Amino acid sequence: MTKKVAVVTGAARGIGLATTDLFLEMGWDVAMVDRDGPELSKAAETRSNVLAVERDVSDPAAVEGMVSDVMTWLGQIDALINNAGVAEFGPVADTDFAAWRRVMETNLDGVFLCTQACTDALKATRGSVVNIASISGLRASTLRVAYGTSKAAVIQLTKQHAAELGEHGIRVNCVAPGPVRTKLAMAVHSQEIIDAYHDALPLNRYGSEREIAEAICFLASEKASFVTGQILAADGGFEATGVGLPALRK
Ligand code: NAD
Repeated sequence: MTKKVAVVTGAARGIGLATTDLFLEMGWDVAMVDRDGPELSKAAETRSNVLAVERDVSDPAAVEGMVSDVMTWLGQIDALINNAGVAEFGPVADTDFAAWRRVMETNLDGVFLCTQACTDALKATRGSVVNIASISGLRASTLRVAYGTSKAAVIQLTKQHAAELGEHGIRVNCVAPGPVRTKLAMAVHSQEIIDAYHDALPLNRYGSEREIAEAICFLASEKASFVTGQILAADGGFEATGVGLPALRK
């Protein structure tokens, strides 16, 4: 089998779209999964070797349908990129159960459902999974009770899946991105937050979608054939530098 197939969730825009483009450059076919039909069609119709799959990753029946669409049209799955995510920031007291569930059902349930549904196909190819967490899953900060907890859970889920699926040759890794100027981030990053990130990151800037895609595609590829259960922070150095007291940098 020379052809390779990646399933990228949340592929209509942002990091998922950049990851789609990098897989295409690598010669892979890509199943672009997203629940935003119009945005997905717009992205898919300008690209070759892609299959647009309009599905919601938080819905178990839709996820089963997604896998059967991919197997029918593309015949195999070599990599699953669990990238679809939502962000809602707010104080603990204002985060009602509905908001908590909205974040968990995509960010955590979606990863669980997609990985489980793709496992048989991944066994056949001895393929790999890359989950997209966040630096918010590595370090706690204010306003991220739901988002940060969902991403920390994705990090643990990565290790659980790596432990159990390794015997089938399936590798499971995770990329924890730092801030990137996507629609998701810009909806919750005020100018004050943007300035604070610049200050806290050793590289003093936001990352690009492409820089995150490079880390994702490396982990998904044969170049990482002995790497599993790992969390790669593509974050401009944010995680490495701890609390980073502004007074100590003057
Ligand atoms: P984005 O909002 O630009 O793109 C996310 C895509 O996921 C959208 O097309 C959306 O329609 C889709 N999506 C959301 N929920 C879905 C669902 N239930 N089913 C199917 N599709 C769904 O966001 P992005 O910034 O590219 O984020 C991609 C991933 O990277 C997310 O998991 C996010 O948490 C993570 N991340 C982003 C940043 C950042 O700064 N942008 C930082 C750390 C982590």
